[in-house]
Amino acid sequence: MRIATYVQDGKRQVGLVHADGQQITPFRLSPEAARRGAQSLIEAVASGRELPPLEARSVPVSSVKLEAPLPLPRRNLWCAGRNYHAHAKELSASVFKDNDANAESWAIVFTKVPESVVGPYDNVQLPGAAISEQIDYEAELTVVIGRGGKNITRADAMSHVFGYTIINDVTARDVQMRHQQWDMGKSFDTFCPMGPWIVTADELDGTKTRVRCWVNGELRQDARTENMIFDIPTLIETVSRGITLYPGDLIATGTAAGVGMGFKPPKYLKSGDVVRMEIDGIGSIENRFV
Ligand code: MG
Repeated sequence: MRIATYVQDGKRQVGLVHADGQQITPFRLSPEAARRGAQSLIEAVASGRELPPLEARSVPVSSVKLEAPLPLPRRNLWCAGRNYHAHAKELSASVFKDNDANAESWAIVFTKVPESVVGPYDNVQLPGAAISEQIDYEAELTVVIGRGGKNITRADAMSHVFGYTIINDVTARDVQMRHQQWDMGKSFDTFCPMGPWIVTADELDGTKTRVRCWVNGELRQDARTENMIFDIPTLIETVSRGITLYPGDLIATGTAAGVGMGFKPPKYLKSGDVVRMEIDGIGSIENRFV
């Protein structure tokens, strides 16, 4: 299934995207449930309940405004840092030192605040030169947790995956470096475009897919998720150590080589730039930076 959250006639709805990607059929949800996007569906599946029924009508996807499938995640997104070998290498000369040695033992994990999430085609607001002049993009496969749990083992981890979506882990590099911890430079308003929908785990093997990113049409990132340093089961095992995961929790799995910071000189984003990210088996998101 592909589950999308969208606005039609001023009303937020959650729908099933047809196989051709052209039509969408809304689930019959209360306004309170619809306001949470796909969250109530994820909770239903996670607890073994049936999905709500579908409405009889369908509408063209092109006629609705797609939103992030989880427009306001229930809490901070978990995010893996430097989780692809080539990306760790491209930043090895940066201020983020000593991560390579650690990388083989423990993942770097930080969080992004839920309020940073915007839709798959929304604008990303540059915060202004007084706050940051080093805005960067990071295309990431993001795991949507289904059944929750604590101390989940690697072996059992994939059974906790509800599905996958795409995020752009937008980053203010100067702010990221300034504060030791990464959350501030990763959590500005609009710094987490997400979508275009959630693809359920029965339709996509997130451990074997391709992630690409273009800036103004120029291919910048192109990698396969097989090249992660810490694979998806390991990331789930790691973030659930002593911490209960809940349905709808999100784990961004880290980005590949080709971020703006990795170029010499760096290629940071400026107003008017358009960043497009595509993951095979999911689709694409595209955001203008303004
Ligand atoms: Mg990232």
